[in-house]
Amino acid sequence: MSWRSFRENVEALTVAVLLALVIRHFFVGSYEIPTGSMAAGLNGLHVTVTCPNCTTTNDVGISSDSLTNTVTLSSRLEIYEGDCPNRNIPVKIATMGANRISCPACKQAHPTAGKTHWGRASTMRAWCGECTLIFPIVVELSDILGGNKILVDKFAYDWQQPKRWDVVVFKFNRERDYIKRLVGLPGEQIQIINGDIWIDGNIEVKTVEAQDRFWTVIHDSSIEEAGLVDSPWQSAPGWVRNGSGWDYNLIKDEGSLRYIRGIENRYNYNAFKPSGARIGPVRDLSVRTILSASSAREESDSRLDISIWNQPAEYRCSFAIGNGSTELQLIRPDMEPQLLGQLPDVSLQPGRAYRIEFQIVDRSIRLFIEDELVADIPLPASELDSGLRSGGLGQPASGVSFFALNCGGKLKHVQLCRDQHWTRTSRYATSEPYQIEDHRFFVLGDNSPSSLDSRWWGSFGRSNLIGRGFSIFWPALPGRNETGFIR
Ligand SMILES: [Zn+2]
Ligand SMILES: [Zn+2]
Repeated sequence: MSWRSFRENVEALTVAVLLALVIRHFFVGSYEIPTGSMAAGLNGLHVTVTCPNCTTTNDVGISSDSLTNTVTLSSRLEIYEGDCPNRNIPVKIATMGANRISCPACKQAHPTAGKTHWGRASTMRAWCGECTLIFPIVVELSDILGGNKILVDKFAYDWQQPKRWDVVVFKFNRERDYIKRLVGLPGEQIQIINGDIWIDGNIEVKTVEAQDRFWTVIHDSSIEEAGLVDSPWQSAPGWVRNGSGWDYNLIKDEGSLRYIRGIENRYNYNAFKPSGARIGPVRDLSVRTILSASSAREESDSRLDISIWNQPAEYRCSFAIGNGSTELQLIRPDMEPQLLGQLPDVSLQPGRAYRIEFQIVDRSIRLFIEDELVADIPLPASELDSGLRSGGLGQPASGVSFFALNCGGKLKHVQLCRDQHWTRTSRYATSEPYQIEDHRFFVLGDNSPSSLDSRWWGSFGRSNLIGRGFSIFWPALPGRNETGFIR
């Protein structure tokens, strides 16, 4: 533990005391996150990694002895550390004695003169969740931050019942305290199916508020990529990349824009771990964009569609342009197209830009316009236990597309998110429902492919519950600030 400086601990303690004074009405305890099982919300031992292709930074877990939090790095390496002069992002690689390095950011050779040092370090390969690039990275002890330190509200459950999706701290065995998300309540039957939680035989549909805790951004069109991997979008003629989004101008025709990267339950936090059998496509997606459209000709039928694909099913939001109604549709090759919902007063007025969010979540279809929920419709029974098939022709099993018919306009900013996807590789609540006894709870780690939780241990008793995770107060360093409320 010597590498964690005395100063860090003094500062952490000071912040803890101050926070405890400020929020006096909480009786709080301080607790350090031991593992990455609650990532990406809560970090165990971790380093921050910058992707050389898309420049997103992510906290990535460092595997350690989970009881003692000790890390062993392999050897003494000569390390180049600086900014890539072409892309202006931080670069850190082992030089192996060379006086020029091959830059992972721009793939060009840069001189290393005067910028190297020796240190005990490990070379690793990281996987970027945004752009799927695998790139080399050097990790030194000085890069590693300890687990997040949090405040625990120990009186939370003295005057109210624990609620589903609360982040709870509890005792399970004598070794240490644990922190996980509360998913199953006393007396319930719980099962994980296709990444979703089922309670007493019904899919558990998260409220809009609860769902907002669980979205993970997987693509943001405002991020410019360096071209080290193929573009994530496949476009028909008429769609033109413009700044942070897309212009389309289809005078009298049709054309689609399609996201072609696979959407899987990978975690950037696990970027140093080889992907395992627990990684697979995710059904629940959200598309956010700022959308404007105008019809090409008055007399033509003009529409702009946003589709979420769970192959072979397509869930489509079809916007009318000018006059008409917006429709929510289910299209499957094995059945007639189904109208799931009709919004008679909703159409896109030419010349206006709309903030749109279209979601498939917990087998419901949700549409937001200007942040207001305008449709929330359960999918029909045919979609409940439908799995995912590969789309063929390079199309991923789940995905997103836009389709324009006789219209032109702009997608100013496109952001794709995926839902939490609970994995099934474990003992309880997977192949069959698990009965939770009275006064007992069932918890899961958000980092589902890499979490030891009730899927392995079963439930625990009410008396083991210590409190509710309340806020992160450390690290609070300039540039390494991870403080905030726990969602
Ligand atoms: Zn990337
Ligand atoms: Zn470079």
